[in-house]
Amino acid sequence: MVPVRADSRHKERSHGRSRPQKSRREAQALAPSGRRAGHGVLHPRGYAVYRVLEDYVRRKMRRAGYAEVRTPQLLPKEFWGRSGHWDKFGEHMFRVGDGELAMALKPMSCPCHVQIFNKGLRSWRELPIRYAEFGACHRNEPSGSLHGIMRTRAFEQDDAHVFCREQDVEGEVACFIALLGEAYRDLGFPDYEVALATRPAARAGDDATWDWSEAKLGDAARRCGLAPQIKPGEGAFYGPKLEFALRDRLGRSWQCGTVQLDGVLPQRLEASYVAPDGSRARPLMIHHAIFGSLGRMIAILLEHHGGVLPFWLSPDQVAVAPISKDQAGYGVDVLAAFEDAGIRAVAYDGADTLSRRIVAAHEMAVPVMAIVGGREMRDGRVSLRERDGLQADVPLAEAVSRLQARARPGALVAEAL
Ligand SMILES: [Zn+2]
Repeated sequence: MVPVRADSRHKERSHGRSRPQKSRREAQALAPSGRRAGHGVLHPRGYAVYRVLEDYVRRKMRRAGYAEVRTPQLLPKEFWGRSGHWDKFGEHMFRVGDGELAMALKPMSCPCHVQIFNKGLRSWRELPIRYAEFGACHRNEPSGSLHGIMRTRAFEQDDAHVFCREQDVEGEVACFIALLGEAYRDLGFPDYEVALATRPAARAGDDATWDWSEAKLGDAARRCGLAPQIKPGEGAFYGPKLEFALRDRLGRSWQCGTVQLDGVLPQRLEASYVAPDGSRARPLMIHHAIFGSLGRMIAILLEHHGGVLPFWLSPDQVAVAPISKDQAGYGVDVLAAFEDAGIRAVAYDGADTLSRRIVAAHEMAVPVMAIVGGREMRDGRVSLRERDGLQADVPLAEAVSRLQARARPGALVAEAL
């Protein structure tokens, strides 16, 4: 049987499918498959995790005052010329032309967000203005630098930009660092490292601006209790950046988050706002991402958690298994109760023995099974079984509330039954 969701359970059941046939290897294959072209695909369970991460960041950004936007993947060469990307980044861009209009796939969303900011006259009273986008980006990386699903040529990142005044910078960066720290803790990474990448040899802007920008990022990090290591010369040509690296349980370091300060792009694309004295002023732009590439983050999570994701991230959180066909109807009710409560439930109701279905759920890394027999059906209860075999017989409503509590982001430790 292929695990099914509530909306298709009747159809699946009527086909009388047997137990899940997927191997352990398939069970763990949650992430996009690497391809020689450097592009990946997300299989259903991998995409389920992707959606959980996306929804998680979406809620966090919305609460922090970011408006989500969507910008095109294909834009004219002329646009990339004005932004400076054609000159500075052109060799990494996929170019598309129909003979009349030269276009390129976007390698990042930043200039598009400036375009949104530039629509209409902005007042200082509106600032900071914050945009977030799950931007689908393409970069023509050299084939030698491709690394499975860790480094691809096509990826989606949790991109965000803040347009603000100088006096807002430290507070905005500190707010982002707080968001990032919460997100990393929720994913199971309590510790991370931070580095301040400073001015490179080839750069835009004068030294006074660089002095100010580097000091602001450093101050914001220290305000959040961090002590950034300095990476001399590794900043972007337009400004310094803070880089955040996760440490996984094997001690390996993965650079994921970044926040960058930029006065160049607003200037190139002529972003401005009306200052309190009525003059036109140039906003500063803060670029940031918590995860970076979402596909890469899924791969890091799988490495870190040994293929068994925490409950809140699991693609299938609970497998409902009636002991015999006599409890099939009650099993459907139980599955619906979980689904209605926002818990990702699947039916393990095939003809196989219960023990085989338990093994199958284990192989699929499903964290909890809800087993229902005659007694459970009669009393409106379920038997919750953990991966380690621990079992608790509870009323259905209690089972739902227990699993709901564990589905909260960051609830990493299995509730004691
Ligand atoms: Zn950006």
